[in-house]
Amino acid sequence: MRFLTGLGLWAALSLAAIAPARAETTAFIGATVIDGTGRASISDGVVVVTDGKIAAVGTRGRVAIPASATRIDVKGKTIMPGIVNAHGHLFFDTRSAVPPRTQLADQLALYARYGVTTVYSLGDDGVETVKLRDELRSAPYGPGMARLWVSGPVLTAKSAEEGRATVTANATRGVDIIKIRLEGSPDAPIRTPAVYGAMIDQAHLEKLRIAVHMFTADETRGVVDAGADILAHSIRDRDVDPILIAAIKANGVGYIPTLTRDLSVFVYESTPDFITDPFFTKEAAYRAPLAPLLDPAAQARVKANASAQAIKPALEQAKRNLKLLSDAGVPIAMGTDTGAPTGRWQGYFEHLEMEMMVEAGLTPMKVLVAATGGAAKVMRIDDQVGTLRPGRQADLLVLGANPLKDIRNTHSLEQVWIAGRKVD
Ligand SMILES: [Zn+2]
Repeated sequence: MRFLTGLGLWAALSLAAIAPARAETTAFIGATVIDGTGRASISDGVVVVTDGKIAAVGTRGRVAIPASATRIDVKGKTIMPGIVNAHGHLFFDTRSAVPPRTQLADQLALYARYGVTTVYSLGDDGVETVKLRDELRSAPYGPGMARLWVSGPVLTAKSAEEGRATVTANATRGVDIIKIRLEGSPDAPIRTPAVYGAMIDQAHLEKLRIAVHMFTADETRGVVDAGADILAHSIRDRDVDPILIAAIKANGVGYIPTLTRDLSVFVYESTPDFITDPFFTKEAAYRAPLAPLLDPAAQARVKANASAQAIKPALEQAKRNLKLLSDAGVPIAMGTDTGAPTGRWQGYFEHLEMEMMVEAGLTPMKVLVAATGGAAKVMRIDDQVGTLRPGRQADLLVLGANPLKDIRNTHSLEQVWIAGRKVD
């Protein structure tokens, strides 16, 4: 617009004023389409996108393609919804010369480059992140950033009164959800029903749902009985029992395994295989933070660290419980804890998480649903994202190979579209 001056600007403005609003339509034609609901994929499918939203999805010949549509031939490719990460984080370094907003936007762009088109942050500063979220919501999506929902800071408390006050203070910031931490919290009282119960109750009084960082089956039982909405990590101390499963199901609680979070705690004891994966090495943003993790002295420290080593059996337990809970019909949402400490790669780890979920015994279809429509449903944003259904945002991925055949085929990512616009 700044190049349009004088008569040019006047002409452009008047043209915009008199031109009838015309729908901008794109039709993706010929791909295998996975819609994110769990329904069987459509072969030789068509996805019609109008003004950034899904208009129609179906088999070629059964879906009307407007004559004005821009046609994109995706024969032989697979289309799936953009990935929804139900447990990510955004962070910024206050000592950096780069403004917080830029640091946060860079992370959303990184997620988007990997096809993670929605990030639900379960821990962030709650001021800059709320601002950026509002900025993204009030403007057409882009350029090339993942959509954002935020929890603000992870809350803890030493008493019920402090717990209620901190929940209310966070709600006042305008966050989308409340996140509390039991396991690893410096405040022992938060592990008592009197304190976490008060925080859960206060979140609901503020009309917000609440996600809990927990570890054990007993903690989980406690917070579920107190009304928690989302379990933000795996149960990692023992097999889930039928009573706990029944309680989780009866309360409609969603479960986010974050297997890669646990992997990241011990995997840098040596040099992980994934760092030579071309899908990892292609990303320039990973290079600087990776280097210190490959330092032999740092690796030796991880090897000698008892709590890091203790996570190995915990991860195996997490995988067993994911399978048990998924088989029992508990709603599963893919989440990773990326964006928390270094070594949890925003973008790449969402794909590794899906691979580990398949290793845990889930079918690729179950995992793809958990990473799209299922995650959106658990986070209650399924009216907007997660599935390729009419009216939803046109956030979709074009893959060279079908991830239903091998989940690692999500690495064949060729195109990312957000709100019907291609991410560069
Ligand atoms: Zn987290």
